[in-house]
Amino acid sequence: SILNEHIPLFNYDEARLVAKLNSNENPYGPSPKVIKAISDSITLGNRYGHGQAKVLIEMIAEKEGVSTDHIMLSPGSSDILEKTAFVQFMNGGNVVSADPSYMSLMNTAQRLGATWKPVLLTGDYQHDLDGMAKAVDSETNLVYICNPNNPTGSITDAAKLKAFCSSVSQKTPVFVDEAYLEFMQDPEANTMVGLVAEGKDVMIARTFSKAHGMAGLRIGYLVALPERIESITSKVRSTMGLCVTSLNGAIASMKEPSFISSCRNMNTECREYTKGEIASLGYDIIPSETSFMIFPLRMEGQPFMKGMYDNGVGVKVFNIEDKPWCRVSMGTKEEMEIFVDTFKKVTA
Ligand code: PLP
Repeated sequence: SILNEHIPLFNYDEARLVAKLNSNENPYGPSPKVIKAISDSITLGNRYGHGQAKVLIEMIAEKEGVSTDHIMLSPGSSDILEKTAFVQFMNGGNVVSADPSYMSLMNTAQRLGATWKPVLLTGDYQHDLDGMAKAVDSETNLVYICNPNNPTGSITDAAKLKAFCSSVSQKTPVFVDEAYLEFMQDPEANTMVGLVAEGKDVMIARTFSKAHGMAGLRIGYLVALPERIESITSKVRSTMGLCVTSLNGAIASMKEPSFISSCRNMNTECREYTKGEIASLGYDIIPSETSFMIFPLRMEGQPFMKGMYDNGVGVKVFNIEDKPWCRVSMGTKEEMEIFVDTFKKVTA
């Protein structure tokens, strides 16, 4: 569980944080070209964005190596997680996922009456694929995988995950949330998207919120078999929730892969710096291939978080196996220096 949900954060004006490191946002984006595309689109605001959505779907289909009927756009990937949960769990059933993991889909499924079957991560923070395969039963309507995983930042071996997805998807759809894929050293080798082109019942969620630096602009997409896309979009126009400015921003961002690689490089540099500083204080950090890292604290979660926020540094504190863990998002180098200084002060 997340401790932040239990403290009155309204006491803290997030806009006044000097380092906002609590939501895994990209401190560098959106890129100047995206900003220009968005400003140039404001005058189109009287029209629906179906045409722009079509353009973006075509670009994504080409990039992912599938036809356009394999793509659904959405306002951020949260919307995909929720809509998938609605369709798969409106009549109950169960969802299998790792614990800890990103809870959005499982929370929605449980609200609809489904059961969550958590499977602990392995000792090296990978998905316990054997355990998860065993947890699948006749009531399972979906398996959720988050790779790289949030909140741990850890990755699961790509070859093993591919074999798991191939075999388990014969019984139930496997949903792979790849929100942080672009921060990995080798995204191409780690994505499961190729399985969709092979006809496997695998659903891949991606977002423009993280590496593209567009969290507040709300664009994400799903790559899945046409019948899975249909199960969500049938009789509804899935592009109705999209904003023409954000669509044009996403189109511009797709044309600028160099922005993503420069964000990845700066992110890696900040991660190495922060890891070095925190590890030198004797903390065990889970190796991360994402834009955040997590480690167990040596003090109570509540006073730690209060100390950090009082000093203008926003972080997230998770309660994992009854112990408080600090998850810190990578900001700019300057923000990470503020984080390190404040961390030393608060934990001294
Ligand atoms: N999936 C994961 C693993 C995330 O960490 C997040 C956001 O933090 C999301 C999905 C949802 O992000 P968005 O709706 O902005 O795409």
